[in-house]
Amino acid sequence: MNYLTHLECSRCAETYDHDVPQNLCAKCGKPLFPRYDLEKIATVWRRTSLAQREASMWRYAELLPVIDATHIVSLGEQMTPLIQTKRLNDVFGLEALWVKDESRLPTGSFKARGLAMAVSKAKELGLTKLAIPSAGNAATALSIYAARAGMEAHIFMPKDAPAFNRDTCQLAGAKVTLVDGLITDAGKIVAERKAGEGWFDVSTLKEPYRVEGKKTMGLELAEQFNWELPDVIIYPTGGGTGIVGMWKGFEELEAIGWIDGKRPRMISVQSAGCAPIVKAWEEGKPEAEPWPDAKTMAAGLCVPQAVGDFLILNAIRQSGGAAVAVTDDEIRRGMEIFATYEGLLSCPEGAATVAGLRKLVDAGEIHPAERVVLFNTGGYQA
Ligand SMILES: *Cc1c(COP(=O)(O)O)cnc(C)c1O
Repeated sequence: MNYLTHLECSRCAETYDHDVPQNLCAKCGKPLFPRYDLEKIATVWRRTSLAQREASMWRYAELLPVIDATHIVSLGEQMTPLIQTKRLNDVFGLEALWVKDESRLPTGSFKARGLAMAVSKAKELGLTKLAIPSAGNAATALSIYAARAGMEAHIFMPKDAPAFNRDTCQLAGAKVTLVDGLITDAGKIVAERKAGEGWFDVSTLKEPYRVEGKKTMGLELAEQFNWELPDVIIYPTGGGTGIVGMWKGFEELEAIGWIDGKRPRMISVQSAGCAPIVKAWEEGKPEAEPWPDAKTMAAGLCVPQAVGDFLILNAIRQSGGAAVAVTDDEIRRGMEIFATYEGLLSCPEGAATVAGLRKLVDAGEIHPAERVVLFNTGGYQA
């Protein structure tokens, strides 16, 4: 029941074998995407089959890269609720607003989706030592899935990463190195040391399968909307794997005939203290420049340079979307609004979508009757 055929460069289309561990394209240095026999899937897989499957991200097995299901490393990645807002609608003058609440996943953030997939594939490929640069939540997610699988996790994170992330990694027995710098500096250390140490680098989008885990957000959303996607998706963007993954998922669903060509406008929200994608979008550039002196209370958005920048910008442009920056004060206010009006205790990154929504509504870019989804990518952490 597996249809994975190969890996393909998302920029130059060079193909690679999926039976061996791969990172970036050897020719152009860009991310590799898993590809599937979509024609075959279209003939054998029916939407109705989902009714009999467990309500987790693994229910989309035909479009996932794990070949032998016994390799799946899971802590119960349940489908996350799509919560229709009640009181928030009046605040924004919108008729149809939902929150996709990712805080219910293991470790309290949607990073669980990507790392559950990456660790499962690592197990399938016989890898045992994994290394990651992370601003926080990805480190926690790798630590717990590696622990579950009995693998080594080598974590490199900024020294001012949230205490929750440092603690949870250490509790799970990961080897944690605090870096005097940002996630990009942590990434350089992993790149320098990995060959000598025998580590496999699971940096986001430098490893081909985390994006497949995050893709399941898009698959779930399509299913929860009964295969008619919403008009607008607002998503807090750091490394961009979520936007890129959902976009890939929508393409695949269309290719197998489960949805039509109508796609949501993809709106990327970043922090004003680190907004490389917003700047590139405003300037009409295909790639983003590294953001100097990045700083924000939303650790997951503190990514000054993303290897998949061109993919994020493509999804935004192709969808007719936008990119907006919001300040830390606006993010904090967003957390209050979520909690006060909907009883939702969100992470700062998730609350950034509320702040972004405010700007878009004020600018008249969202019509009151449009169906809008905010992604709350994680839960509140003290
Ligand atoms: C990592 C992270 C983000 C950014 O996600 P990308 O898909 O990498 O852009 C947003 N919110 C939270 C809570 C995160 O941990």
